[in-house]
Amino acid sequence: MSEKEAESRNPSELQDVFSGEPMDLRPGSDDCYKCSTCDTECPVAEVDDDFPGPKFQGPEQWRLKRKGDHDIDDSVMSCSNCMRCDNACPSEVPLSQMHNTARGKYVDEQMSKLSREYIRNRILSNYGRLAPLASKFPRLTNFVMGLSVTKFVNEKVMGITSQREFPDFATETFTDWWEKRGGKATSKERAQEARTKRGDAAENDDKRVAYFHGDYSNYNTPEVAKAMVRVFEQFGYEVAVPDQRCSGTPMFANGMMDDARRAAKFNIETFAALVEQGYDVICSCTSCSMALRQEYPELYSFDGTAKVAANTFEALEYLRVHEDLEGELADSSVPESEFGELAYHAPCHAKNQGLDGQAVELLSALDGTDPVDVGDSCSGISGTYGWKSEKYDTSMKIGDEMFEHMEDVESETGMTECPTCAMQMNHGTGYDIRHPLEVLDSALVN
Ligand code: SF4
Ligand code: SF4
Repeated sequence: MSEKEAESRNPSELQDVFSGEPMDLRPGSDDCYKCSTCDTECPVAEVDDDFPGPKFQGPEQWRLKRKGDHDIDDSVMSCSNCMRCDNACPSEVPLSQMHNTARGKYVDEQMSKLSREYIRNRILSNYGRLAPLASKFPRLTNFVMGLSVTKFVNEKVMGITSQREFPDFATETFTDWWEKRGGKATSKERAQEARTKRGDAAENDDKRVAYFHGDYSNYNTPEVAKAMVRVFEQFGYEVAVPDQRCSGTPMFANGMMDDARRAAKFNIETFAALVEQGYDVICSCTSCSMALRQEYPELYSFDGTAKVAANTFEALEYLRVHEDLEGELADSSVPESEFGELAYHAPCHAKNQGLDGQAVELLSALDGTDPVDVGDSCSGISGTYGWKSEKYDTSMKIGDEMFEHMEDVESETGMTECPTCAMQMNHGTGYDIRHPLEVLDSALVN
């Protein structure tokens, strides 16, 4: 399919990558043999008796749609897009793809564009569009967003819960730091120095990575993005930081498929050009890597989609595969007073990519820290989900198990790869939450 054809298609209508015909997910639904395993894995169904669960959201809705006279059930808006059901299904039914498509259709055809729910969801899922303005005046924004009156108005007018603290905007964004530091040219110099110190050839075009930092690392937690850059340079990688948009994860979760398609198209074009030049794509957020690897190829057929998906990696995963990360950590240490015991939560999207065990396994070799896995439960926030007033209680009920296990850990520091799981962990326990890359930065660079 040409780019022009891809552009002109109805965004809520999936098309087959090869034939260009409308994609039919019904064969996927026919693979469902109603074992209900997915329902037992669904964290929303576990705490909300009114939520019919993934088997209904996916295969059953598609079977009903076969008759062509059924609306999408509005319960699809209560699915948090945690994607745990995908992993659970023994029959490889494309559940989250069905949910994303059904949600997009529901929002397009059945949700009023003037409703409070639509306006609120559009704002929440387009955080990356609003953040540049807010981050121009970070102190003022942080002050205003922290006021009780702002929270009250947000709750009453927008349906955004007043129970949570808005995350602070950093006084300097990651990309501002990156530009001031000298961008790609500086990164190349640092990578070359590191290679020389390691006894490798200074020039090496195979060691180049393009960083997909996402919005949150850029505007709110630049320390994570800076750690990523420093750690990769330390291993001799030149880092490129191209212009990029939100990965689309919050847009998929809210059925904003037009917005998601625009963002995905921009990202795919940008990163495919770099992959063509020999770069691999690295993400520090497991939901971003999930979007680029799984959701983009499931939903889009833009030129370069498959190439980007095949060359995208989560940061630790990449270093594990390509470097002796374990060996270097075994010879290093971090200050016990800063890290010590770390209550680690594996994000659901990390589990989907088979990455849930790696942070604990790797960091266990490091002196000065003792990561403790707090179990298999979902954190419950699922991006924008836990920010909605009507979902707040569900979100906290889901998170209860994780909070309890975190509190069993003696220290008051947590660790995770997902920025919104980090928000929920902090909200439920008051713990300071770190990213594994910050631990690597402390061990291997600083
Ligand atoms: S786990 Fe798969 S096969 Fe079983 S009910 Fe769910 S979708 Fe159907
Ligand atoms: S994506 Fe998560 S919340 Fe949605 S149906 Fe699947 S398991 Fe349940």
